[in-house]
Amino acid sequence: MNKKEVAAILSEIGTLLELKGENPFKIRAYQNGARALETLTEKLEDVIAEGRLNDIKGVGVALAKKIEELSGTGKLKFYTDLRASVPEGLIQMLDIPGLGGKKIKVLHDKLGVESLKSLEEACLEGEVAALPGFGVKSAEKILSGIKNREIYSRRHLWWKAQQVAEPILEGLRVLSEVIRAEHAGSLRRNRETVGDLDFVVASDEPSPVMDWFTERKGVVEITAKGQTKSSVRLENGLQADLRVVSPAQFAFALHHFTGSKEHNVQMRQRALSRGLSLSEWGISNENDGVSVEGSETIDSEEALFHFFDLTFIPPELREGLGEIEVAENGSLPDLVRVEDLKGCFHNHTEASDGVNTLEEMALAAQEMGWDYLGLADHSKASFQANGLNEERVIQQIEAIRALNESGKYTTRVFSGIECDILTDGSLDLNNDVLEELDYVVVSVHASFTQPRDKMTARIIKAIEHPSTTMLGHLTGRLLLAREGYELNVEKVVDAAVANGVIIELNANPHRLDMDWRHWRRAVEKGHLTSINPDAHSIEHLGFVDAGVRIARKGWLSAESVFNTWTLKSVEEFLEKRKK
Ligand SMILES: [Zn+2]
Ligand SMILES: [Zn+2]
Repeated sequence: MNKKEVAAILSEIGTLLELKGENPFKIRAYQNGARALETLTEKLEDVIAEGRLNDIKGVGVALAKKIEELSGTGKLKFYTDLRASVPEGLIQMLDIPGLGGKKIKVLHDKLGVESLKSLEEACLEGEVAALPGFGVKSAEKILSGIKNREIYSRRHLWWKAQQVAEPILEGLRVLSEVIRAEHAGSLRRNRETVGDLDFVVASDEPSPVMDWFTERKGVVEITAKGQTKSSVRLENGLQADLRVVSPAQFAFALHHFTGSKEHNVQMRQRALSRGLSLSEWGISNENDGVSVEGSETIDSEEALFHFFDLTFIPPELREGLGEIEVAENGSLPDLVRVEDLKGCFHNHTEASDGVNTLEEMALAAQEMGWDYLGLADHSKASFQANGLNEERVIQQIEAIRALNESGKYTTRVFSGIECDILTDGSLDLNNDVLEELDYVVVSVHASFTQPRDKMTARIIKAIEHPSTTMLGHLTGRLLLAREGYELNVEKVVDAAVANGVIIELNANPHRLDMDWRHWRRAVEKGHLTSINPDAHSIEHLGFVDAGVRIARKGWLSAESVFNTWTLKSVEEFLEKRKK
């Protein structure tokens, strides 16, 4: 385990001890230990190997032993036992915003609640509001937290769903009975979250295909099994549906089950306006149901769209948001691809809260085949992330300059910072230092609950700062976990366009922020974006994949994406902005 993972467990132990009402000193010891590891600038393995764990402020002998065990084995009996001793319902309550260990203990002791259900009832009956330290507002907040948790638990991150779906699709494709196989549904449409997995297969022998699908490892429950459709529940909670059709029906079924509902309704209306009926089975005459001449040769979605005088509509655009009209006059955008990227920006090193060194990041970028890599560690206001003060920023700029001059890597490294936007909209570092950097990302990391107008003004003020190059994760949302802060997106986009500031598309699969629904209009206004992985390790550089998918969903073509530009154009752009 790395220091971040160990720190997360220590902090969870602190919370579990709080739930049990343990001695506050003991609780604080774990919380301090977690913080000490989070801000540790060296590699944890090195510190352990050199026997210096005890020297860290906040780490006593007993804690050092536990850290060693976690770091070495990834396990800790004390933690496993502790977790098992706390009712599952109380642990689930920790997901509710505003509820920590202390508050949950009060709810448990005073009201006897032990599950989300009993907590919900206590809220509805006014018992929670009547407790000292709670009140009507916090009872309402708990209720909406419980509701959100239910909604969230029914959906899954696209990134995770895709990792589950890929091996299933590959497995289907190698079966001898399978002629063609594709995934469909919201996963194929690149939605940021996915309800369930859908597969469509063309085969003349469904039975063995259905057997393979329902008997796979990882299937915990078979909810339906037939010749045309089977459904299973997988161990990670995802439901997966498989439909097997004849080769002649494949294109129609694939189109139908890819959806969305709105897109399908509009396609059916297009068919009806010609006296035809379009379904997952094919195209027939509306009146007599006889299949239509020419439709039996449709063996691909391209041919299906073509039959209706449309250019091919990529699956990610099929949301019923005007794509059919645009396909009619053949002017759908040429969507950006991962191969178009020539580098990326907004990446962290171990100088703040990343896990890799500057050199490791540069090497990884070179191995990705990138011409440039923009670093952006946190600034000092993000103290929990070990943010850099002015002095450390200057040191890093010098280290980057030396690395570039050494010619060790073919990838050019740009110096940057992810500078905190303070509560009043000013930036966290002084101007002299900001001007020394190649580029500056500005982000909100605190005071999320400001009213909408105030938050909008705060962000616009930061956009107007002459050193600002990019705006980081526009709303701060964490998909399926935390709603973004309130702000007027349109006003922020207008300010960014007016000031030539790039709003990033944060490619972390938990963020994908700014939301894809805003990009098409932003680009029409002349906006430029950058697909930024916000990497905290070399592995995270691969997040650009998720970013590109969402960019495509937002109708973006390569020209609108800054990091598809050549090194020379990027250098010129950044130079010009500095003046
Ligand atoms: Zn950030
Ligand atoms: Zn970041």
